[in-house]
Amino acid sequence: MSQTVASRSLLALTREFNRQLSEGEGVDPLAREIEDLELAALAVCADRSDALTALDVAVVIRCHDEAKQYDLKPWDLLPFELMLSMIGATEVSPSRVLLPHLTVGPSALRLWAFEIGWIARRRLDARVLMASLLLNVENTIGYWSQSLALCRALFDSDEEFHRSADEYEPQDMPEQFQSRMEDARESWGEVLYPAILQRRELAVQRRIVRYVLGGLQAAPDDGRKCATCDEGLGGYEARTAFLVSDAMGDEATDSIWHCALCGQYTKETYVDSFFGEDRVSVSAMSAEGGAERSAFLRGCATPGDRRCGCGVHLSVGR
Ligand SMILES: [Zn+2]
Ligand SMILES: [Zn+2]
Repeated sequence: MSQTVASRSLLALTREFNRQLSEGEGVDPLAREIEDLELAALAVCADRSDALTALDVAVVIRCHDEAKQYDLKPWDLLPFELMLSMIGATEVSPSRVLLPHLTVGPSALRLWAFEIGWIARRRLDARVLMASLLLNVENTIGYWSQSLALCRALFDSDEEFHRSADEYEPQDMPEQFQSRMEDARESWGEVLYPAILQRRELAVQRRIVRYVLGGLQAAPDDGRKCATCDEGLGGYEARTAFLVSDAMGDEATDSIWHCALCGQYTKETYVDSFFGEDRVSVSAMSAEGGAERSAFLRGCATPGDRRCGCGVHLSVGR
């Protein structure tokens, strides 16, 4: 069983997010670095083209549950609420999750919602969000151009955007709306490439490079690593089951570990070869398959004895 790059990235980022959160004991307000990690996990969720796996779902839910124990502000975990929606853990669509946050009073909180929307833009629905985003252009002071930029980014082309925006009916400040839209048309490049939002996206991408590629390059430490999620599983003393058996005169050891992080099992077969080089092969096992196999191997009372003639030993005979 192979693990997609996206799944591994999601796992590395959410783990680092939880780690930094626990080190700072919640940290209020959230450090920018921690926000970047959260947004990086959101970016991986939003941009992946292949199907989400059960592991992704478990990883996001676990990370969110862990983060909830800290006394964070309700908007701190907003990226997670979008992720939960994207993985199908909640009924509400990502756009509906984000919608009420786009028009909150404090401009710094609106900007946070725009940044989240920018990172998740490929998964958002312009039909749901456009009216609120354009209302900001009409009647807010801070960050109205970022609101416009996000709105534009939800469309495939300028034409589509303008066609829809022309249908918007200003509520209380039609003149301000018109003049701002005219200003925007004159410096359209800034609308397409909004500096603040792009800076955040760049920071998010740096986190992905640092923690995902950094994690892949990390030197292996002692003990087995989970074949599914790379979590350290400990040495032989931590196995859920093992069996030493005879392999045409060589000694083969099957070992199985359970991963507390992702719930999957990892199987290692080590052949202590008399003639050639020792051989090790490692593979992932599902939660059900691993549990079943472990229970089966534990059916032998003397798993370390390769000459044991019990039913378990006979059935793994090579
Ligand atoms: Zn694992
Ligand atoms: Zn036996």
